[in-house]
Amino acid sequence: MMTMENINANVAGRGKSPTLGTNELSAAMEAEGREVFRFGFGESPFPVPDVVAEALRQNAHQKSYLPVQGLPELREAVAQFHGRREGLGLTVEQVMIGPGSKELMFLLQLCLDAEVLVPTPCWVSYVPHGEILGRPVRLIHTTSDERWLLSAERLAEEAPDATPRLLILNYPGNPQGTTYSQQELEALADVAREKNIIIMSDEIYGELHHDGGHQSLVRYYPEGTIISSGLSKWCGAGGWRLGTFVFPEELSWLREAMCSVASETYSTVSAPIQYAAVSAYSGGEEMESYLSASRRIIKAAGNWAAHRLNEAGVAVHHPEGAFYLFLDFSTMAPAIAQMGIETSSVLCEKLLEETGVVLLSGEAFSRPPEELTARLAYVTFDGGEALKAVGGSVDDSFLGKYCPKVVEGIDRLTKWAEALSG
Ligand code: PLP
Repeated sequence: MMTMENINANVAGRGKSPTLGTNELSAAMEAEGREVFRFGFGESPFPVPDVVAEALRQNAHQKSYLPVQGLPELREAVAQFHGRREGLGLTVEQVMIGPGSKELMFLLQLCLDAEVLVPTPCWVSYVPHGEILGRPVRLIHTTSDERWLLSAERLAEEAPDATPRLLILNYPGNPQGTTYSQQELEALADVAREKNIIIMSDEIYGELHHDGGHQSLVRYYPEGTIISSGLSKWCGAGGWRLGTFVFPEELSWLREAMCSVASETYSTVSAPIQYAAVSAYSGGEEMESYLSASRRIIKAAGNWAAHRLNEAGVAVHHPEGAFYLFLDFSTMAPAIAQMGIETSSVLCEKLLEETGVVLLSGEAFSRPPEELTARLAYVTFDGGEALKAVGGSVDDSFLGKYCPKVVEGIDRLTKWAEALSG
Protein backbone atom coordinates (compact mmCIF):
# COMPACT_ATOMS: atom_id res chain seq x y z
CA MET A 1 0.00 0.00 0.00
CA MET A 2 1.29 3.45 -0.84
CA THR A 3 1.70 5.94 2.01
CA MET A 4 2.76 9.56 2.34
CA GLU A 5 6.32 8.28 2.10
CA ASN A 6 5.67 7.83 -1.61
CA ILE A 7 5.03 11.47 -2.25
CA ASN A 8 7.32 13.30 -4.65
CA ALA A 9 9.93 14.96 -2.40
CA ASN A 10 9.55 18.24 -4.30
CA VAL A 11 5.92 18.62 -3.23
CA ALA A 12 6.03 17.02 0.23
CA GLY A 13 5.10 19.37 3.05
CA ARG A 14 3.98 22.19 0.78
CA GLY A 15 1.01 24.18 2.06
CA LYS A 16 -1.40 26.14 -0.08
CA SER A 17 -0.35 29.31 -1.82
CA PRO A 18 -0.08 31.85 1.07
CA THR A 19 -2.41 34.35 -0.58
CA LEU A 20 -5.23 31.83 -0.60
CA GLY A 21 -4.51 30.85 3.01
CA THR A 22 -4.79 34.45 4.21
CA ASN A 23 -8.03 34.90 2.35
CA GLU A 24 -9.53 31.91 4.13
CA LEU A 25 -8.25 33.06 7.53
CA SER A 26 -9.78 36.52 7.10
CA ALA A 27 -13.08 34.95 6.03
CA ALA A 28 -13.07 32.76 9.15
CA MET A 29 -12.48 35.77 11.43
CA GLU A 30 -15.28 37.68 9.74
CA ALA A 31 -17.61 34.71 10.19
CA GLU A 32 -16.90 35.01 13.94
CA GLY A 33 -18.18 38.58 13.80
CA ARG A 34 -14.82 40.34 14.06
CA GLU A 35 -14.17 43.32 11.86
CA VAL A 36 -11.40 42.47 9.47
CA PHE A 37 -9.62 44.61 6.89
CA ARG A 38 -8.70 42.17 4.20
CA PHE A 39 -5.57 43.68 2.72
CA GLY A 40 -4.03 40.24 2.23
CA PHE A 41 -5.51 39.04 -1.03
CA GLY A 42 -4.77 40.83 -4.30
CA GLU A 43 -7.80 40.57 -6.52
CA SER A 44 -9.09 43.31 -8.81
CA PRO A 45 -11.89 45.22 -7.06
CA PHE A 46 -13.48 46.10 -10.40
CA PRO A 47 -16.18 44.13 -12.24
CA VAL A 48 -15.57 42.62 -15.66
CA PRO A 49 -16.43 45.41 -18.15
CA ASP A 50 -19.99 45.10 -19.49
CA VAL A 51 -18.85 44.72 -23.07
CA VAL A 52 -16.70 41.72 -22.14
CA ALA A 53 -19.34 40.12 -19.89
CA GLU A 54 -21.86 40.49 -22.73
CA ALA A 55 -19.42 38.83 -25.15
CA LEU A 56 -19.24 35.88 -22.76
CA ARG A 57 -23.04 35.59 -22.70
CA GLN A 58 -23.11 35.68 -26.49
CA ASN A 59 -20.57 32.88 -26.64
CA ALA A 60 -22.02 30.52 -24.06
CA HIS A 61 -22.86 28.10 -26.89
CA GLN A 62 -19.24 27.68 -27.98
CA LYS A 63 -18.63 24.06 -27.12
CA SER A 64 -15.78 22.70 -29.20
CA TYR A 65 -12.20 22.18 -28.15
CA LEU A 66 -10.04 24.97 -29.48
CA PRO A 67 -6.43 24.75 -30.71
CA VAL A 68 -3.93 24.11 -27.90
CA GLN A 69 -2.11 27.37 -28.62
CA GLY A 70 -5.37 29.30 -28.40
CA LEU A 71 -8.20 30.67 -30.53
CA PRO A 72 -6.60 32.29 -33.60
CA GLU A 73 -8.83 35.42 -33.43
CA LEU A 74 -7.83 35.89 -29.80
CA ARG A 75 -4.14 35.36 -30.53
CA GLU A 76 -4.40 37.94 -33.28
CA ALA A 77 -6.09 40.41 -30.91
CA VAL A 78 -3.41 39.82 -28.25
CA ALA A 79 -0.61 40.29 -30.80
CA GLN A 80 -2.21 43.56 -31.95
CA PHE A 81 -2.76 44.73 -28.40
CA HIS A 82 0.87 44.32 -27.30
CA GLY A 83 2.23 45.28 -30.73
CA ARG A 84 0.28 48.56 -30.72
CA ARG A 85 1.50 49.51 -27.28
CA GLU A 86 5.14 48.64 -27.89
CA GLY A 87 5.35 49.75 -31.51
CA LEU A 88 6.27 46.24 -32.69
CA GLY A 89 4.87 44.00 -35.40
CA LEU A 90 3.85 40.89 -33.43
CA THR A 91 2.18 37.95 -35.13
CA VAL A 92 -0.50 35.44 -34.27
CA GLU A 93 2.11 32.63 -34.19
CA GLN A 94 3.96 34.31 -31.34
CA VAL A 95 1.02 34.19 -28.92
CA MET A 96 -0.01 31.34 -26.64
CA ILE A 97 -3.16 31.35 -24.52
CA GLY A 98 -3.26 29.42 -21.24
CA PRO A 99 -5.56 28.82 -18.26
CA GLY A 100 -4.10 31.77 -16.33
CA SER A 101 -0.58 33.09 -16.73
CA LYS A 102 0.37 31.14 -13.61
CA GLU A 103 0.01 27.86 -15.48
CA LEU A 104 2.01 29.18 -18.45
CA MET A 105 4.79 30.23 -16.08
CA PHE A 106 4.84 26.76 -14.56
CA LEU A 107 5.05 25.21 -18.04
CA LEU A 108 7.88 27.58 -18.90
CA GLN A 109 9.97 26.46 -15.95
CA LEU A 110 9.07 22.85 -16.77
CA CYS A 111 10.21 23.13 -20.37
CA LEU A 112 13.33 25.23 -19.91
CA ASP A 113 16.33 23.55 -18.36
CA ALA A 114 18.06 26.59 -16.92
CA GLU A 115 18.88 28.31 -13.66
CA VAL A 116 16.09 30.70 -12.66
CA LEU A 117 16.94 34.16 -11.32
CA VAL A 118 14.24 35.78 -9.23
CA PRO A 119 14.62 39.30 -7.82
CA THR A 120 12.82 39.67 -4.49
CA PRO A 121 10.41 40.73 -3.15
CA CYS A 122 8.62 38.61 -5.74
CA TRP A 123 5.16 37.29 -6.42
CA VAL A 124 4.44 34.20 -4.34
CA SER A 125 4.39 31.47 -7.00
CA TYR A 126 7.61 31.84 -9.04
CA VAL A 127 9.81 30.18 -6.43
CA PRO A 128 7.40 27.31 -5.63
CA HIS A 129 7.22 26.57 -9.37
CA GLY A 130 10.98 26.11 -9.47
CA GLU A 131 10.98 24.09 -6.25
CA ILE A 132 8.21 21.76 -7.40
CA LEU A 133 10.08 21.15 -10.64
CA GLY A 134 13.47 20.79 -8.96
CA ARG A 135 14.95 23.76 -10.82
CA PRO A 136 17.84 25.70 -9.34
CA VAL A 137 16.33 29.03 -8.25
CA ARG A 138 18.58 31.93 -7.25
CA LEU A 139 17.01 34.74 -5.27
CA ILE A 140 18.36 38.24 -5.78
CA HIS A 141 17.37 40.37 -2.80
CA THR A 142 16.82 43.97 -3.81
CA THR A 143 16.63 46.82 -1.28
CA SER A 144 14.17 49.52 -0.39
CA ASP A 145 16.70 52.09 -1.65
CA GLU A 146 16.47 50.40 -5.06
CA ARG A 147 12.66 50.78 -4.87
CA TRP A 148 12.66 46.96 -4.51
CA LEU A 149 13.67 46.62 -8.18
CA LEU A 150 16.57 44.85 -9.90
CA SER A 151 19.38 47.05 -11.17
CA ALA A 152 21.40 46.18 -14.26
CA GLU A 153 24.56 46.13 -12.10
CA ARG A 154 23.10 43.51 -9.79
CA LEU A 155 21.97 41.43 -12.74
CA ALA A 156 25.48 41.50 -14.20
CA GLU A 157 26.91 40.34 -10.86
CA GLU A 158 24.40 37.51 -10.53
CA ALA A 159 25.03 36.23 -14.06
CA PRO A 160 28.81 36.12 -14.11
CA ASP A 161 29.05 34.27 -17.43
CA ALA A 162 26.94 33.66 -20.52
CA THR A 163 25.44 30.33 -19.36
CA PRO A 164 21.77 30.54 -20.45
CA ARG A 165 19.53 31.57 -17.58
CA LEU A 166 15.90 32.53 -17.08
CA LEU A 167 15.22 35.83 -15.31
CA ILE A 168 11.76 36.58 -13.99
CA LEU A 169 10.86 40.26 -13.89
CA ASN A 170 7.52 41.65 -12.75
CA TYR A 171 6.57 45.29 -13.24
CA PRO A 172 4.53 47.12 -12.12
CA GLY A 173 5.39 44.82 -9.28
CA ASN A 174 3.49 42.66 -6.90
CA PRO A 175 4.19 43.20 -3.98
CA GLN A 176 6.06 46.50 -4.31
CA GLY A 177 3.87 48.59 -6.67
CA THR A 178 6.92 50.20 -8.26
CA THR A 179 8.06 49.86 -11.89
CA TYR A 180 11.08 50.33 -14.15
CA SER A 181 11.88 53.52 -16.02
CA GLN A 182 12.87 53.43 -19.69
CA GLN A 183 16.56 53.85 -18.75
CA GLU A 184 16.37 51.01 -16.26
CA LEU A 185 14.75 48.73 -18.84
CA GLU A 186 17.37 49.62 -21.44
CA ALA A 187 20.21 48.88 -19.02
CA LEU A 188 18.67 45.53 -18.05
CA ALA A 189 18.22 44.67 -21.73
CA ASP A 190 21.92 45.34 -22.42
CA VAL A 191 23.05 43.01 -19.66
CA ALA A 192 20.54 40.30 -20.62
CA ARG A 193 21.70 40.37 -24.23
CA GLU A 194 25.35 40.17 -23.26
CA LYS A 195 24.75 37.34 -20.77
CA ASN A 196 22.39 35.22 -22.84
CA ILE A 197 19.47 35.58 -20.44
CA ILE A 198 15.87 34.82 -21.39
CA ILE A 199 13.47 37.14 -19.57
CA MET A 200 9.98 36.20 -18.58
CA SER A 201 8.50 39.66 -18.26
CA ASP A 202 5.43 39.40 -16.06
CA GLU A 203 3.37 42.43 -17.10
CA ILE A 204 0.04 41.31 -15.75
CA TYR A 205 -0.33 44.75 -14.12
CA GLY A 206 0.90 46.64 -17.20
CA GLU A 207 -2.51 48.12 -17.99
CA LEU A 208 -2.76 49.19 -14.36
CA HIS A 209 0.23 51.51 -14.55
CA HIS A 210 -1.32 54.43 -12.71
CA ASP A 211 -0.59 56.93 -15.47
CA GLY A 212 -1.22 54.50 -18.32
CA GLY A 213 2.49 54.73 -19.17
CA HIS A 214 3.56 51.08 -19.03
CA GLN A 215 6.46 50.11 -21.30
CA SER A 216 7.56 46.55 -21.90
CA LEU A 217 11.14 45.38 -21.87
CA VAL A 218 10.32 43.76 -25.22
CA ARG A 219 10.99 47.15 -26.86
CA TYR A 220 14.66 46.98 -25.88
CA TYR A 221 15.20 43.22 -25.87
CA PRO A 222 12.77 41.80 -28.43
CA GLU A 223 14.79 38.65 -29.14
CA GLY A 224 14.87 37.45 -25.52
CA THR A 225 11.69 38.72 -23.85
CA ILE A 226 8.56 36.67 -23.27
CA ILE A 227 5.67 38.96 -22.29
CA SER A 228 3.33 37.39 -19.76
CA SER A 229 -0.08 38.89 -19.16
CA GLY A 230 -3.76 37.99 -19.08
CA LEU A 231 -7.25 39.11 -18.16
CA SER A 232 -6.99 38.65 -14.41
CA LYS A 233 -5.98 42.09 -13.20
CA TRP A 234 -6.85 44.81 -15.69
CA CYS A 235 -10.09 43.18 -16.79
CA GLY A 236 -11.24 42.15 -13.32
CA ALA A 237 -11.47 38.54 -14.46
CA GLY A 238 -9.12 36.49 -12.25
CA GLY A 239 -11.66 33.69 -12.01
CA TRP A 240 -12.02 33.43 -15.77
CA ARG A 241 -8.53 31.92 -15.90
CA LEU A 242 -7.09 33.33 -19.08
CA GLY A 243 -3.40 34.13 -19.42
CA THR A 244 -1.23 35.01 -22.39
CA PHE A 245 2.42 34.61 -23.36
CA VAL A 246 3.98 36.44 -26.33
CA PHE A 247 7.20 34.77 -27.45
CA PRO A 248 9.97 36.19 -29.61
CA GLU A 249 10.30 34.33 -32.92
CA GLU A 250 13.74 33.23 -31.71
CA LEU A 251 12.06 31.21 -28.94
CA SER A 252 9.49 29.38 -31.08
CA TRP A 253 11.08 26.06 -29.98
CA LEU A 254 10.17 26.90 -26.40
CA ARG A 255 6.60 27.81 -27.32
CA GLU A 256 6.27 24.52 -29.19
CA ALA A 257 7.57 22.56 -26.20
CA MET A 258 5.05 24.31 -23.94
CA CYS A 259 2.20 23.62 -26.38
CA SER A 260 3.21 19.99 -26.47
CA VAL A 261 2.96 19.69 -22.66
CA ALA A 262 -0.28 21.71 -22.70
CA SER A 263 -1.77 19.27 -25.22
CA GLU A 264 -1.09 16.41 -22.79
CA THR A 265 -2.44 18.21 -19.72
CA TYR A 266 -5.11 20.96 -19.87
CA SER A 267 -5.60 20.74 -23.68
CA THR A 268 -6.96 24.23 -24.20
CA VAL A 269 -8.60 27.12 -22.38
CA SER A 270 -12.39 27.18 -22.03
CA ALA A 271 -13.89 28.14 -25.41
CA PRO A 272 -16.49 30.75 -24.30
CA ILE A 273 -13.83 32.55 -22.26
CA GLN A 274 -11.48 32.75 -25.23
CA TYR A 275 -14.19 34.12 -27.52
CA ALA A 276 -15.18 36.69 -24.91
CA ALA A 277 -11.56 37.74 -24.38
CA VAL A 278 -11.35 38.90 -28.00
CA SER A 279 -13.55 41.86 -27.07
CA ALA A 280 -11.31 42.79 -24.12
CA TYR A 281 -8.20 42.80 -26.28
CA SER A 282 -9.84 44.62 -29.16
CA GLY A 283 -10.08 47.75 -27.00
CA GLY A 284 -12.50 50.51 -27.92
CA GLU A 285 -13.96 53.42 -26.04
CA GLU A 286 -15.67 51.45 -23.31
CA MET A 287 -12.47 49.55 -22.43
CA GLU A 288 -10.46 52.76 -22.46
CA SER A 289 -12.78 54.61 -20.13
CA TYR A 290 -13.03 51.57 -17.81
CA LEU A 291 -9.23 51.40 -17.61
CA SER A 292 -8.67 55.09 -17.16
CA ALA A 293 -11.26 55.26 -14.34
CA SER A 294 -9.79 52.14 -12.68
CA ARG A 295 -6.32 53.70 -12.77
CA ARG A 296 -7.47 56.97 -11.27
CA ILE A 297 -9.15 55.23 -8.36
CA ILE A 298 -6.26 52.91 -7.47
CA LYS A 299 -3.70 55.64 -7.96
CA ALA A 300 -5.54 57.92 -5.53
CA ALA A 301 -6.12 55.18 -2.95
CA GLY A 302 -2.50 53.97 -3.17
CA ASN A 303 -0.97 57.42 -2.86
CA TRP A 304 -3.26 58.40 -0.02
CA ALA A 305 -2.38 55.20 1.87
CA ALA A 306 1.38 55.52 1.20
CA HIS A 307 1.34 59.11 2.39
CA ARG A 308 -0.46 58.27 5.64
CA LEU A 309 1.78 55.30 6.36
CA ASN A 310 4.98 57.25 5.72
CA GLU A 311 3.73 59.97 8.05
CA ALA A 312 3.20 57.35 10.74
CA GLY A 313 6.78 56.11 10.32
CA VAL A 314 6.14 53.01 8.17
CA ALA A 315 8.50 53.25 5.19
CA VAL A 316 6.76 52.67 1.87
CA HIS A 317 7.31 53.76 -1.74
CA HIS A 318 4.54 55.58 -3.51
CA PRO A 319 3.00 53.14 -5.97
CA GLU A 320 3.35 53.56 -9.73
CA GLY A 321 1.08 50.72 -10.77
CA ALA A 322 -1.02 47.74 -9.62
CA PHE A 323 -2.71 47.89 -6.19
CA TYR A 324 -0.07 46.98 -3.65
CA LEU A 325 2.21 48.64 -1.13
CA PHE A 326 5.23 46.92 0.38
CA LEU A 327 5.53 48.16 3.95
CA ASP A 328 8.80 48.28 5.81
CA PHE A 329 8.45 48.43 9.60
CA SER A 330 12.22 48.30 10.21
CA THR A 331 12.12 51.96 11.22
CA MET A 332 10.37 50.81 14.41
CA ALA A 333 12.38 47.62 14.84
CA PRO A 334 13.49 48.21 18.47
CA ALA A 335 9.90 48.72 19.67
CA ILE A 336 8.76 45.67 17.69
CA ALA A 337 11.59 43.58 19.13
CA GLN A 338 10.51 44.63 22.63
CA MET A 339 7.16 43.01 21.91
CA GLY A 340 9.03 39.76 21.30
CA ILE A 341 8.39 39.89 17.55
CA GLU A 342 11.24 38.55 15.46
CA THR A 343 9.77 37.75 12.05
CA SER A 344 7.46 39.33 9.49
CA SER A 345 4.98 36.47 9.90
CA VAL A 346 4.67 37.01 13.65
CA LEU A 347 4.39 40.75 13.05
CA CYS A 348 1.46 40.15 10.67
CA GLU A 349 -0.26 37.90 13.23
CA LYS A 350 0.16 40.58 15.88
CA LEU A 351 -1.25 43.23 13.55
CA LEU A 352 -4.24 41.06 12.72
CA GLU A 353 -4.90 40.47 16.42
CA GLU A 354 -4.51 44.11 17.48
CA THR A 355 -5.95 46.02 14.54
CA GLY A 356 -7.97 43.52 12.47
CA VAL A 357 -5.77 44.38 9.48
CA VAL A 358 -4.67 41.47 7.33
CA LEU A 359 -1.30 41.87 5.63
CA LEU A 360 0.79 39.24 3.91
CA SER A 361 4.24 38.91 5.43
CA GLY A 362 7.41 39.73 3.51
CA GLU A 363 8.40 36.11 3.99
CA ALA A 364 5.66 35.08 1.52
CA PHE A 365 7.46 37.19 -1.08
CA SER A 366 10.76 35.38 -0.50
CA ARG A 367 12.24 38.03 1.78
CA PRO A 368 14.33 36.98 4.77
CA PRO A 369 11.91 35.95 7.58
CA GLU A 370 13.44 38.36 10.09
CA GLU A 371 12.95 41.37 7.84
CA LEU A 372 9.97 43.40 9.05
CA THR A 373 8.19 43.80 5.73
CA ALA A 374 4.65 43.03 4.57
CA ARG A 375 2.38 43.59 1.59
CA LEU A 376 -0.82 45.58 1.72
CA ALA A 377 -3.36 45.17 -1.13
CA TYR A 378 -5.65 48.21 -1.11
CA VAL A 379 -8.55 46.60 -2.94
CA THR A 380 -11.13 46.20 -0.20
CA PHE A 381 -13.80 48.31 -1.86
CA ASP A 382 -16.69 47.87 -4.25
CA GLY A 383 -15.03 48.70 -7.56
CA GLY A 384 -18.37 48.69 -9.42
CA GLU A 385 -19.79 51.43 -7.19
CA ALA A 386 -16.53 53.40 -7.32
CA LEU A 387 -16.45 53.23 -11.14
CA LYS A 388 -20.02 54.48 -11.37
CA ALA A 389 -19.27 57.41 -9.06
CA VAL A 390 -15.89 58.49 -10.36
CA GLY A 391 -16.24 61.79 -12.14
CA GLY A 392 -13.67 64.52 -11.72
CA SER A 393 -10.93 64.19 -9.17
CA VAL A 394 -10.65 61.27 -6.79
CA ASP A 395 -10.12 63.14 -3.55
CA ASP A 396 -10.16 62.24 0.14
CA SER A 397 -13.93 62.55 0.38
CA PHE A 398 -14.36 60.16 -2.58
CA LEU A 399 -12.07 57.66 -0.86
CA GLY A 400 -13.97 58.05 2.43
CA LYS A 401 -17.26 57.39 0.67
CA TYR A 402 -16.32 54.64 -1.79
CA CYS A 403 -13.30 53.01 -0.18
CA PRO A 404 -14.25 53.21 3.52
CA LYS A 405 -12.61 49.93 4.46
CA VAL A 406 -9.32 51.06 2.95
CA VAL A 407 -9.53 54.33 4.86
CA GLU A 408 -10.44 52.74 8.18
CA GLY A 409 -7.90 49.93 7.84
CA ILE A 410 -5.11 52.39 7.10
CA ASP A 411 -6.27 54.55 10.03
CA ARG A 412 -5.99 51.56 12.35
CA LEU A 413 -2.55 50.67 11.04
CA THR A 414 -1.24 54.21 11.34
CA LYS A 415 -2.59 54.53 14.90
CA TRP A 416 -0.87 51.28 15.82
CA ALA A 417 2.41 52.47 14.27
CA GLU A 418 2.17 55.91 15.90
CA ALA A 419 1.52 54.39 19.31
CA LEU A 420 4.58 52.20 18.84
CA SER A 421 6.81 55.06 17.76
CA GLY A 422 5.69 56.92 20.88
N1 PLP B 1 1.80 37.41 -11.79
C1 PLP B 1 1.55 38.21 -10.76
C2 PLP B 1 2.56 39.23 -10.39
C3 PLP B 1 0.35 38.10 -10.05
O1 PLP B 1 0.11 38.93 -9.02
C4 PLP B 1 -0.58 37.10 -10.42
C5 PLP B 1 -1.83 36.89 -9.67
O2 PLP B 1 -1.98 37.25 -8.55
C6 PLP B 1 -0.26 36.28 -11.50
C7 PLP B 1 0.94 36.46 -12.17
C8 PLP B 1 -1.15 35.15 -11.94
O3 PLP B 1 -2.20 35.58 -12.67
P1 PLP B 1 -3.17 34.61 -13.48
O4 PLP B 1 -2.71 33.20 -13.29
O5 PLP B 1 -4.50 34.87 -12.92
O6 PLP B 1 -3.01 35.04 -14.92
